[in-house]
Amino acid sequence: SILGATGSIGQNTLSLISSKKDDFKVVGLTGADNIELLARSAVDFEADMVATADESKFLDLKDLLSGHNVEVCAGLSGILEVASQQTDWVMSAIVGSAGLLPGLSALEAGANVALANKESMVAAGPIMKRISEINDVRLIPVDSEHSAIAQVIRGEERESLSKIIITASGGAFRNFSKSELVSVTPDQASTHPNWAMGQRITIDSASLFNKALEIIEAKEFFNLSASEIEVVIHPESLVHAIACFQDGGMKAHLGPADMRHAIAYALHEEKRLKLSLDEINLADVGTLHFDKPDLDKYPSLKLGYEVIEQGGLAGAAFNAAKEEALDNFINYKLSFTGMADVVRATLDELNSRNELKNELVIETIMELDLLARSIAKKYVEKI
Ligand code: NDP
Ligand code: MG
Repeated sequence: SILGATGSIGQNTLSLISSKKDDFKVVGLTGADNIELLARSAVDFEADMVATADESKFLDLKDLLSGHNVEVCAGLSGILEVASQQTDWVMSAIVGSAGLLPGLSALEAGANVALANKESMVAAGPIMKRISEINDVRLIPVDSEHSAIAQVIRGEERESLSKIIITASGGAFRNFSKSELVSVTPDQASTHPNWAMGQRITIDSASLFNKALEIIEAKEFFNLSASEIEVVIHPESLVHAIACFQDGGMKAHLGPADMRHAIAYALHEEKRLKLSLDEINLADVGTLHFDKPDLDKYPSLKLGYEVIEQGGLAGAAFNAAKEEALDNFINYKLSFTGMADVVRATLDELNSRNELKNELVIETIMELDLLARSIAKKYVEKI
């Protein structure tokens, strides 16, 4: 099943399956707004069931699929219905914290979950890991850096690892000064120099909030401390992660800036199948650059490290505040640099109210998600 089938990751996953239709049976597909694409994908891939997150689109989706043997569901309950079907493998690629409950449902139903939805690892990593252990199923990284880490540490002992380096392209405004960043518009921030992705992650890449989420995601996936995770700016986006070992050796993963590489690795249980992706010609590339990120210019990354140090509910609060700030940036109600100010103010207020000391359970995370969004909204109006 593919959760978020109409998105960038979802469609890339389907495109990988399309050349091997005989090897796969598609059980369920989910989407939200784009019901035309959802219906078309369900027919093309002979899915058993589909769900749109938008209940008001239920009848239209049903109409689009009339005459086809596809069960149609809608709303969160419909998405969870699809997510909890018995399957071998689920791609969790809904965007934002809306992906948390569906991803958990898939793990609970006994599926191996390929996790693109980094937000669920940021908000509830320990819970995701516990459920996957209890059900004896795998949680497989899809984010390119985390897939790269899994590839470079494979076969190595944990004790031999000294740190992980994650690369960041630096996004669209790598060469902008801090003051130039203030007036960046949503349109400008929605184009990435190296990767084709959904709008939200593209903007998060430009603000480095994406990298902040990714260092927290790395901590959860690979049990790393803040001091064991380093970020370097690497504009070429060819090296995705580097494992550094106690003996001074380093293993880097180089790969195409194309998510089909990481998705295929997750889909084929770490087997390397032939993919028709652009080949990297190192002589043409010539030079690879690595720079230290400027934490003053990108306070989002600094916040990410603080969240790792704090642990517990800090990740859920950070992600929710970031999502609210991003919504407001997209709607022209908050500046590009204002996003980090809003997230910082929200975390400070939640800490001063002792809201992040509660137990890390799903109910608390869901409540905190709403609270963090409402506090962030208040700061959007103030800042
Ligand atoms: P897109 O915006 O392209 O797609 C998002 C998907 O989620 C769509 O299927 C969308 O449906 C669906 N969706 C949106 N809102 C909801 C909701 N409330 N409930 C259920 N479904 C919803 O995002 P991406 O594919 O770019 O990203 C998906 C996830 O993967 C994110 O967590 C992102 O951080 C992560 N990721 C993405 C990468 C990339 O290259 N794109 C790389 C690494 C990680 P619809 O379109 O029909 O409205
Ligand atoms: Mg990534």
